[in-house]
Amino acid sequence: MHPDTLPPEQFSSYPGAIHTHWQEAAHAKGFNITGRIRDRYHLALRCRSCGHVHASRIFNLMSAEPQCPACMLQRLERDAESAGLVHLQRDPEHRHYSFYRAACGHEVRRQHEMVKRILAGKVALRCETCHAATEASEARKRGWMLLGPDPEGDPSYRLYAHAAGCGALQRIARANMQTGRFECSCCGQGWAAAHSYLYAMRFTLANGRELVKLGYSRDPESRLLHQLRIDRAMPCEILRTVEMASGHQAIRTEKALHARLRAAHPEAVVDPASYRGQIRVRSEIYDATLTPLILSMLHGIGTQPAAA
Ligand SMILES: [Zn+2]
Ligand SMILES: [Zn+2]
Ligand SMILES: [Zn+2]
Repeated sequence: MHPDTLPPEQFSSYPGAIHTHWQEAAHAKGFNITGRIRDRYHLALRCRSCGHVHASRIFNLMSAEPQCPACMLQRLERDAESAGLVHLQRDPEHRHYSFYRAACGHEVRRQHEMVKRILAGKVALRCETCHAATEASEARKRGWMLLGPDPEGDPSYRLYAHAAGCGALQRIARANMQTGRFECSCCGQGWAAAHSYLYAMRFTLANGRELVKLGYSRDPESRLLHQLRIDRAMPCEILRTVEMASGHQAIRTEKALHARLRAAHPEAVVDPASYRGQIRVRSEIYDATLTPLILSMLHGIGTQPAAA
């Protein structure tokens, strides 16, 4: 319980006179003074409408409008009910905020003034938990998984993973996710027929370990700068790209190269846990000792006559 709303017998009394002008001020503001308490700065005030006793600074009584915490709580509960909420408790950290139970059953924290606006019909309550679920299900319907806010900080964008497709991560405007006006930049329509690149990239993790990634993309540089790299300060570079006639050819070739690398050098496949939070990808990263081999594989592909 808040120390200002203890039952009256639990306030320690303080000796001293109660001045008449204090009583007059208290009376005018809806209270009676029942005693001096705690120290020379405090009085106990009894609310003339509900009888609740609370502690008030004398300075506060004389210079401001003291509020009865019990009447205040009743008002908050009434406001909440009219707004379709249940008042749970005041936020002990912020006197203008409380916790409420929303109609959906979730707990929300709102400013008291906001609840007044809701009950006046000026705004609607939007439960953050329900809203996150709505966005997640919008994405699921299109085969994507909502991962979180836009890593580049644009409030109208989110970060999604192409869960039902190639698994690539992509920043997509939420409005486009709702309407479907976007395509996976990794495997979308238009991708299959367009030119694509195999690439090798080098990354240096925070602990100094060097890694090499082999992959394909329509735009390796954008993939590196906007998708793979999380910390802008992480040293990374594109070591080589090889243009492929189509996305399909790129993905086929890339998969074959990974199969050869995994079979010949299983020990060089790096555990994703070691780069989680630094490189935005789930697999297909190798220890840098494979770099010369990967570069020579790419070189071999680049010099092959183009397949039909
Ligand atoms: Zn009261
Ligand atoms: Zn909810
Ligand atoms: Zn995709």
